[in-house]
Amino acid sequence: MSKPIVAIVGRPNVGKSTLFNVLAGETISIVKDTPGVTRDRIYADCSWLNMNFTLVDTGGIEPDSKDITIDTADVIIFIVDVRQGLVDSDSKVADMLRKSGKPVVLAVNKVDSFQKFGNDIYEFYNLGIGDPVAVSAASRL
Ligand code: GDP
Ligand code: MG
Repeated sequence: MSKPIVAIVGRPNVGKSTLFNVLAGETISIVKDTPGVTRDRIYADCSWLNMNFTLVDTGGIEPDSKDITIDTADVIIFIVDVRQGLVDSDSKVADMLRKSGKPVVLAVNKVDSFQKFGNDIYEFYNLGIGDPVAVSAASRL
């Protein structure tokens, strides 16, 4: 049996590649302040808590390529950015994910300080895609 595929999706600059590198355990994907820097999908074999899966980093905003990623994924990690808050393109991604019917984990990234940003995660309930999980990919929280 092939490994399940976990895809990381979200609009540019939310921290997809940063999280990918943390989970992959090495620096494979390029992290940049410039949106749209990850052009191709990047794969890594991961194991975590005895589970083996293939992790996929995605470039960002082009709806077509995202469709392909969503189609092939078994589980999706949908990342949003607490510093920017809920924006329109987040809602568009959420709509696509809802239509796919795939299981989604909603990760609210850049919560480097829970004291500072903890209360800002709740607005992401408006995406209607489940409970927001506060993370900080950069500080591996
Ligand atoms: P991508 O476009 O979604 O792949 O985003 P990147 O992983 O390239 O990250 C975009 C920017 O956000 C980079 O400058 C990262 O250093 C920054 N970043 C990523 N994760 C965090 C985080 O947890 N906290 C903060 N403060 N910045 C982060
Ligand atoms: Mg990237």
